[in-house]
Amino acid sequence: MSKVSKASKTFKACIKCRALVKPEEEKCPICGSNEFTFEWSGIVIVLDSEKSEVAKMLNIKTPGRYALKIGV
Ligand SMILES: [Zn+2]
Repeated sequence: MSKVSKASKTFKACIKCRALVKPEEEKCPICGSNEFTFEWSGIVIVLDSEKSEVAKMLNIKTPGRYALKIGV
């Protein structure tokens, strides 16, 4: 089993808000940060941040695609 999934190469995660963005993006569309990492795991897709328990747990307020865990 590999630790790095395919998805983790397709996206980078914003260190501040965990949003997953394409590697060519320079700024995070959610929080405007330009600090990203490729060291992340797990994808959380939030469709409705007010109804999602996971979104509350991770403090996500904007619907989108987020990394469950940042770092190795
Ligand atoms: Zn962000």
